[in-house]
Amino acid sequence: MGVAKRMLDDQKCMDDAATEILKRARAIIWCEDCDAFVDNFDPDALIRAYKIANDMITRNHKLVVVFNGDRKALIELIDSVYADVDSCRCT
Ligand SMILES: [Zn+2]
Repeated sequence: MGVAKRMLDDQKCMDDAATEILKRARAIIWCEDCDAFVDNFDPDALIRAYKIANDMITRNHKLVVVFNGDRKALIELIDSVYADVDSCRCT
């Protein structure tokens, strides 16, 4: 496997981890009609997401192993993925 491919895989793992954490915190919810994750507009959800992220790093959860214990990188990616999520457009 080439270096570029490997980096892309790592990036995808990181994005997936951030998305999963946002989902568990219910910061984002799946909308069947939009066929995408949409903003849940819960003001406390990001705080929950940060807590879940910190717990996962502490326990070296398999989902966040790719971050090598880098809490800051994980938190920043959670912010960035959340910023890219749209509102639901089907109501
Ligand atoms: Zn929708």
